[in-house]
Amino acid sequence: MCVTGASVPLAKLSVRMATSMQLDDVATRRADLHEDYERAAQGLPPRAVVRREDLPAAAAATLGAIRDTLARLWQKVRWERRHFETLWRLAIDAVPLPGNSHMPLARREPCGCGQHGHGGAAVETHAAAAPTPRQHHFWDCAVAKAVVAQINAHNPGPAPISQAQLWLVQAPPGFQQCVWDVVVMAALAATEHGRVRLRGMTRAAAALGIQTAAAAAPEAAVAGAAEAEPDLDEIPPTQLTPPQPGVNPVELACARAVADFWSRLMQFAQLGVPQKGWDGVDATHPILAVVNGEMLCAMPQAMELEA
Ligand SMILES: [Zn+2]
Repeated sequence: MCVTGASVPLAKLSVRMATSMQLDDVATRRADLHEDYERAAQGLPPRAVVRREDLPAAAAATLGAIRDTLARLWQKVRWERRHFETLWRLAIDAVPLPGNSHMPLARREPCGCGQHGHGGAAVETHAAAAPTPRQHHFWDCAVAKAVVAQINAHNPGPAPISQAQLWLVQAPPGFQQCVWDVVVMAALAATEHGRVRLRGMTRAAAALGIQTAAAAAPEAAVAGAAEAEPDLDEIPPTQLTPPQPGVNPVELACARAVADFWSRLMQFAQLGVPQKGWDGVDATHPILAVVNGEMLCAMPQAMELEA
């Protein structure tokens, strides 16, 4: 972004100017992506549909806070950075989900839960109205719901937690913010863990199906093989294991996500009570409590599996 609008002769373009122009671009792009995230979290229309100045003033006033929230988490939460990654990626739509803001042209992948990306061409023409990949995988999907259900099982408040409370790290009634910070990062990271596992199982099952179809329809098999090609960045080949017979891959992915959620929280509890900011957390606090100077993590709730 060139602020003056006038072009700078190349000979006069210093490294410092070029760097600052690029950083401006990056900052603007990130602010736009953060705004999209905040809108999505609250169910507001995206920037491309309703401009910020056309939003109701109260809604517009909520936008822009996520940047400070992320900065606060980065500074205040003493925890390994690997637990932060999913939230940071999610806030700029950079979890590698085909069809997201960074891969708009990539063909969307059906989710193994069967509720997203299915239905063929007729549905794809209405793709604009369909939930975004981020919306599906981090709120609507059975895997995300299994993790949220764990939080709700310990939620002392009258209402289930909202998408905005989760995505924007806004502590619901009954939760201290310092605990909620950790719960949110654990929940989103665990949801991503479950998503990747479900994708691995779905792709492995598809690859097995392709082997049998290959003899009958070579062209289809080639197309299918390209589709089923594992994303090496994301899934090590050893994890591309088909589900065992009799095991529902969605239930397995939900269980993996739930286990991952609690293992992150238990690991955090083992670090001990942070020196600052935890005075308001007592023995009755949900999920993470402080008892006699020690941090205790609640127990996982039995999962209700759909028949
Ligand atoms: Zn799903």
